[in-house]
Amino acid sequence: MKPLVLFVLSGPEAGKGTQCGRTVEKYGYTHLSPGEFLRDERNNPESQYGEVTGKYIKEGKVVPVEITISLLERELDQTMAANAQKNKFSIDGFPRNQDNLQGWNKTLGGKADVSFVVFFDCSNEICIEQCLERGKSSGRSDDNRESLEKRVQACLQATKPIPDLHEKMGKVKKMDASRSAEEVFDEVVKSFDKEG
Ligand code: UDP
Ligand code: MG
Repeated sequence: MKPLVLFVLSGPEAGKGTQCGRTVEKYGYTHLSPGEFLRDERNNPESQYGEVTGKYIKEGKVVPVEITISLLERELDQTMAANAQKNKFSIDGFPRNQDNLQGWNKTLGGKADVSFVVFFDCSNEICIEQCLERGKSSGRSDDNRESLEKRVQACLQATKPIPDLHEKMGKVKKMDASRSAEEVFDEVVKSFDKEG
């Protein structure tokens, strides 16, 4: 079976991690978070990409797509090799820009199918406030106001147009993420049940 992928996008900390977690439980998706693989890569002293990755993350910039794709491909392959029935994946926070999407199409486009794109939409202020709150305990090098302003800008300029590309193919679900996690998940369930 081919991997079937759901791209889950939003501004920083608009709740995509939480919603992905719930989707995993209810629908049997495997949750892949490129942001997390990249942080692991940065922390791995053996990695040839560790240092460069750490720089991009701290600056709130998008890491070169070749690095992200190679990590994603490894995770997809490992999961499917362990259990070929586990072919549904929700990918959290990727593709972040056009270049990411092109990298995906070029390398994994023929190997995996994208079922649809979910975009959790909320205001910059909410994203920044929630990240600053998270930063009190997350220990992340990029949960400070300076990095955050850059991440929010990057999201506005580059990530938000991604769903528009898919919209033309009728493959996007935009959800208002300024509501409670429960309310947002109710909407996720409704739209997933409709898709099957
Ligand atoms: N990142 C990236 N490509 C990805 C995912 C993440 O370059 O596909 C980097 C980018 O620097 C981003 C950081 O990792 O700002 C954190 O990403 P994550 O998705 O964890 O952030 P969140 O939006 O969940 O706070
Ligand atoms: Mg995240």
